[in-house]
Parts: sequence; structure tokens; C-alpha cells
Amino acid sequence: MKEAVKQKFFTKNLLVWFDKNDRPLPWKGEKNPYYVWLSEIILQQTRVEQGLPYFEKFKATFPTVLDLAKAPADQVMKLWEGLGYYSRARNLHFTAKFIATELNGVFPNTHTAILGLKGVGPYTAAAIASFAFGLPHAVVDGNVFRVLSRVFGIETPIDTTLGKKEFNKLADALLAKDKAAMYNQAIMDFGATQCTPANPNCTICPMQKHCTAFSKKLISTLPIKSKKIKKRDRFFNYLVFKHADTIVLNKRQQKDIWLNLYDFPLVEASSLLSEEALLQDEVFQKIIGTQSFTIKKASKPFKQLLTHQKIVAIFWEIELKSALPVNDSSFFEVKQKNINNFAFPKIVDLYFKDKSLYLELF
Ligand code: SF4
Repeated sequence: MKEAVKQKFFTKNLLVWFDKNDRPLPWKGEKNPYYVWLSEIILQQTRVEQGLPYFEKFKATFPTVLDLAKAPADQVMKLWEGLGYYSRARNLHFTAKFIATELNGVFPNTHTAILGLKGVGPYTAAAIASFAFGLPHAVVDGNVFRVLSRVFGIETPIDTTLGKKEFNKLADALLAKDKAAMYNQAIMDFGATQCTPANPNCTICPMQKHCTAFSKKLISTLPIKSKKIKKRDRFFNYLVFKHADTIVLNKRQQKDIWLNLYDFPLVEASSLLSEEALLQDEVFQKIIGTQSFTIKKASKPFKQLLTHQKIVAIFWEIELKSALPVNDSSFFEVKQKNINNFAFPKIVDLYFKDKSLYLELF
């Protein structure tokens, strides 16, 4: 089959498939650019089922972009808690404030201006431009890479400049320009439910007849990535200081993971420390100063995988005789009963939820 004919076949059959398989989701058919933007940012690197309640919560709490712009940063982070990739929440808030102050509260309506917003990459810009304004820009995300690489048998690695160019060019050629919103929604749904990463549903697939991966048995090979991400191991020895009914928290302000979330004073080392090694550690000694303290216990290790890092943490529960002199401006005491007002990284939440916890934090 000639390439141009195959492209026409693909677009036509995709739209027919979508007509029968449209998934009802709250943001489908949404034309309000603020809600489209909100849903797209929430859904980046997030499964639909996980993102759905967050979309509803954000919409209910901040019905307009101006409401989001006016909100305190801690409220936005707390609402985002558990969703991960927190730079999305920070950029969301930054951009809402930018739209409120610099654009008179009006969401931009051209592809170039949308692409200029902080936290909006080519995929999100194409999604907003097509869904909210019907502009002819094709989305290219993980789903699209997978579907196109399989149907058209493209073996160029998707994480190379050459690969990105090739896929973008093909995606533009395939786009039904007069139905950009519908086409973009269709290809995303097709990738999410039909041509899935593992066990795609080839037996009832409308593309099967002309799918290169199917005919050449390349389904598990495509799409191709050139590099595997190597994760860096980090070891966190958290210090959970308790005095009377208070606990010491740390606001993360360094240029590092989890900016503006809360955790505890931390001794990061090349491994999890023994009690003896912890007591001799310079950072620990600097934090504790001349305080009298008793180490009550150490938690079991908890793990959290991030895109480029693997975090292993233990939590040292330490009773203080008096309040910790706050010798670091990012440390502060809070009443244990108020702990739910703060947004924590997942690993700290896992620790809180662990039943063996001796501190009664909930
Ligand atoms: S035939 Fe299989 S691999 Fe090809 S597009 Fe359909 S589901 Fe994907």
C-alpha cells in the first residue's frame, strides 16, 4: 500500500473507531481553555483514573484561572499532594498568576502564545489549541509515538531529535485538520485503550490489516528508545523530632526534588546510617546542637521511585527534652494535630501511614 493511501486509511479508520469507542470523561468536549489546560497538566505522566479526582478537586476549589492565581502556594501544593511531579503544580500556579496579571485574566488563544506559557510543552499546546480553539495542531505524546511507530513500522528511536522530527511530520500529515479536536482525542484514546503498551487488542483492531508491527511481529519491539534512564540512588536519614505535642518539619526550599513540599530535618548520606554513624554525622550534630535527646526508634526503610532517582529513607524518631532551637530557617515546629495542613512527598506519607509508627500523628 502506498504511504499516502495508508495515511488516509489510518485517519479515516481512527475516526470511525472513535465514533464507536469514545470514553466519557469529564473534560471531553470541554472548550473552556482553563479547564482543558488544567486537565492536560494533571494528566501528564498520570493515569486517567488517578488524575480524575484531582481534576474535579481543582475545578471545584478554583473555578476560574483567577481563583487559582489568588490561591496561596501551600493550598495548591496540598491539593496536588499524591500526584507527583510537583513542578507541574508550581508551573500551574505560576502560569495562572501570569495570565491574571499580564494577560488580564484571558487565556491566550493562539498556538504560539499557548506554547509560550510556563509548563506548557508542544504536546500540551497542541491539545489546548485543538480542544479549546479547534486549531489544527496534532498532539504527539507517548500514546501517539506507540501507535504511529507500530502502524507505520517506524524504527527511529522516539527519544532522538531525528525521531521527534519524523513522528511530528507524520502526525501533522495524518491530522484531520477540520476535526483537529476529535482526531487528537481519538488517537490518544486509541493508544490508551486499544494499542496499549502491553497486550494491544490486535484481534479486533481496525488498523490490523495495514499494521506493520502486526504483520512483521514487531509489537513488543516498537516503539524504540535509544537510552535507558539510569536512576541515581539517594539515601535519606530523616529526623522526626518530637517535643510535647509538637513535631519539627522542614520546608524544602533548595533546588532539588520536592520544592515547596514539607518533610523533616534530613541527613543525606551515601547509605542508610546505623545509630552510631548517625550520632557521629556532622549534619546531625549541627542540627541537634547541645539539645538533650533520646532516639526512640528507627522505622523500616521506605522506597520511592522518581524518573531519575531512587529514594530510600528511614525515619529516626527522636524525643527532645525541650524545643529544638530553630537553627535552620526552613525548620519549624507544628502541633501534631495540624500535620494534615501540609503537603508531603509520597515517601513521607507512606511513613505516616505505617501502622508501626509510635508517634500518634493521625
Ligand atoms: S494491530 Fe495491534 S499493534 Fe497494530 S495498531 Fe492495532 S492494536 Fe496496535
